[in-house]
Formats: sequence, C-alpha cells, structure tokens
Amino acid sequence: MANRGEIALRIIRACRELEIETVAVYSEADRDAPYLQLADERVCIGPGPGIRSYLDIPKIISAAEITDVEAIHPGYGFLAENAHFAEVCQSCHIQFIGPTVENIRALGDKASARRLARELGIPVVPGSNSLLASEEEAVKVAQEIGYPVIIKATAGGGGRGMRVAHNDISLTSGYQQARREAENAFKNPDVYLEKYVEKPRHIEVQILADSYGEVIHLGERDCSLQRRHQKLIEECPSPAVDAALRARLGDAAITLARAVEYRNAGTVEFLLDRQGNFFFIEVNTRIQVEHPVTEMVTGIDLVKEQILIASGAPLRHAQKDVVLRGASIECRINAEDPSAGFKPVPGTITRFVPSGGPGVRVDTHVAAGYTIPPFYDSLIGKLIVHRENRDEAIATMRRALDEFVVEGVQTTIPLYREIFRHFHFIKGNLNTSFIEEYFLDA
Ligand code: ADP
Repeated sequence: MANRGEIALRIIRACRELEIETVAVYSEADRDAPYLQLADERVCIGPGPGIRSYLDIPKIISAAEITDVEAIHPGYGFLAENAHFAEVCQSCHIQFIGPTVENIRALGDKASARRLARELGIPVVPGSNSLLASEEEAVKVAQEIGYPVIIKATAGGGGRGMRVAHNDISLTSGYQQARREAENAFKNPDVYLEKYVEKPRHIEVQILADSYGEVIHLGERDCSLQRRHQKLIEECPSPAVDAALRARLGDAAITLARAVEYRNAGTVEFLLDRQGNFFFIEVNTRIQVEHPVTEMVTGIDLVKEQILIASGAPLRHAQKDVVLRGASIECRINAEDPSAGFKPVPGTITRFVPSGGPGVRVDTHVAAGYTIPPFYDSLIGKLIVHRENRDEAIATMRRALDEFVVEGVQTTIPLYREIFRHFHFIKGNLNTSFIEEYFLDA
C-alpha cells in the first residue's frame, strides 16, 4: 500500500481476505499507527511531510523492491492519480492496482476529459472549449455564456484551484488566484472555465472495467453535501435518481470508459441541475473515499475487485447482476472545527468509542491514545450505515452519531447530528450549497 490511514487499513483487509500478503510503508509520523501491525511487513519511508515520504516515488519503489512486492495499491490522494508513478511501477515490473498509464493521462487532465466527453456526445457544462490562454479570453467566454462562472484548474482535485466569479472584475482576480493556487498545489497553472451551476447535486457513477473490454457501472452516489466543494456526506442511491436516469448516467459513464479502454475502478462525476439535466464534470481514476456506500448497496467489495482486475481476472459480475439493495449513507468523521471554517485540529484522541450495532460499519485507523499527525488530511474515520431504505438509514445514522464518542479533538460529528435532523435533509432536498446555506454563519 503506497498510502496510510484508513485506506491503507481498508486495503490490508481486502488482501487478508484474498490471502495476499501485504507491505505497509509508513512515515516517521505514522510509526505508532495501530493498523501497521496488521500488515505482514512494514517499511519506514521517511519523515512526516508527504513530499518526503508518501509522495516520494524513489523511496516507495525502493521499499517495494526490498520486500519484493508484486503489486502496489495507491489508495486515494498522494500518488493515486499520478501517471508518472504508474509508469515507474510498470517499468519496475510492479503491477499498479488501478487504471493504465494512458487512462490516467487521458482523464486526469480535466480540460481534456471534458473535451473527450463532449466529443462523445455526453453533456458537459457550457464553458471554454479548452484551456484559457489569457484573462481576456476568460472574460470573453464568460460574457458569452453568462455569469456566474467557475474557473477550474485542469490538474485540480480536492476542491482546490477553483474560483466562482459573478462579474468581469471578480473573474479577472479569480483567474489569477486560481492559477496561483493550481501552480502551488499541482505545479500546473492551467485553468478552464465553466458556467457555475447554481445549487446542483453532485452525482457520480462508480464503474469497474477489466482488461478484456468489459465495463459495468455500480449505480450512483449522491455527494451533494459538501463544504468548500469537498464532500462530507455521501449516499447511495441518490434520492434524486430513478431507474431511467440511473441508466442514462450509467450509459454515459460506460461510453466514456470504453472510449479510453478504461481498466479497473473509476468514478465518473456529474452535476445534476434543478431541472434534472446532468452534466459531466470529471473522472477520478482511483478508488474514492466514499466507495463503501456503493459496496453496501451492491454487495460488491470494490477493493477486492480492484486487486482481482489488476491480477488479470475478468469481471466477476455482469451488468444485469448488479442490484441496488436498500440505502447506504456515509459521514466523513474529520478532526476539524466546523465553526472555524473547518480548520483541521490535529491532536491526541483521548477517548474513542465508535458506534456499532445493526446496519453500522466504521472504517477507521484510529483508537484512543492516537495522535493525529499534522501532515495529512483530517479524516479520522468513516461512519457508514446500510438499511432497507433511506428513512431507516437516517434513523440508524442518527443513533450511530449519538453513540459515537471522540474526545481530545473536535470533529464534524456534532454538525452531522444536526444535519440528520434537518427537514430538508430528511426530505432528500440536497444540493452542494446545503451546508453553507443552513449550517454556516456567513
Ligand atoms: P475536484 O476535482 O477539485 O473535486 P470537481 O470538478 O470534481 O473538482 O468539482 C468539485 C465540486 O465543485 C463539485 O462537486 C461542485 O460542488 C463544485 N463544482 C464544480 N464545477 C462546478 C460547476 N460548473 N458549477 C457548480 N459547481 C461546480
């Protein structure tokens, strides 16, 4: 596992069930993380900062060579969507558990993926045809399609490198800010522009593809509950998607996957506007944080499937065998202070009592006494429920949130306790501005 935390543990669990031995790499900051003991071998790859450990390709490859691994699972974040890393694995004869180098190149650049989708007849948000060459071009396109617009980094991810603009003046400054942010975060300042869809839902389709051209979709996830364009709560199925819309979204996702001869697991993301139109926004060429809700509803273990596909196995499920049963919702438990703009609050967890009981799954790498390192993201666990229908899932989530005890650091749990009692959430009236609108004082 070229990763850490809950996703490293998730991969270890899949491997143990498949009777595959695992090697965990860890930074000095993660030295005492309890999940490392579940790996068969452990290799320290350097100091805490990601750039000197989990992002350091030569160190990870050296660890892989020393321990003679056959394959590397990159998890999410870090090197998961780094085509160069996938290429290095290939040249070292290590199987990269994910899409091909060509897939990552074709879809990782958001402006190119957008162009490809448009060429395939998949609806995209109106906007620039390609990268913006200048501020003047940005203004020209924005005036053509009408404000508000959103400037987006082509290399973007995690909600970074995006700026919404309502007029020429905010567009000019937003253009520069987005470029600077993208250069700092992704070493690539290129940006493009889209119409800013007001209060859409974020709907994404999970796909699986094998090395023999078979592609299936596993339904959608509704990830509309976000803060700063980053997801907090996800569910499957979406309360806004019926069978007909699901089939159209699935077709669009599969068309795109086939066009690039996609392999392994991936997610095709769309926005759904208030009129029910969907628009492609991007593809994530990796396993996602929110994959468990799809696993619960389909009964398909996505991480195991990733490993089997990478080993050359054909898909084990046909499209007609994929059935969505019940409803699943996930809350990302982050060590953050929602009242201070979701500022991360690293520190030591003094008490940790995860919820349990019927319908509850908790994916976490932490325990009481665990110190959250300041170097990585603030996710300390995921609380997932699965019930017969959405109302039951909400009831179970409320109970599970009330049971969950985390002391020593602030978390997003108190905010979620309120959200799961909010009239519009219960009704399924979700959109990407929901949390800002109802829960944050402007
Ligand atoms: P990232 O790769 O950084 O996650 P995405 O392109 O996936 O960026 O977008 C993340 C979120 O940003 C979306 O879920 C949505 O909330 C918002 N967003 C992106 N594009 C638009 C758009 N054209 N109109 C409105 N909101 C958008």
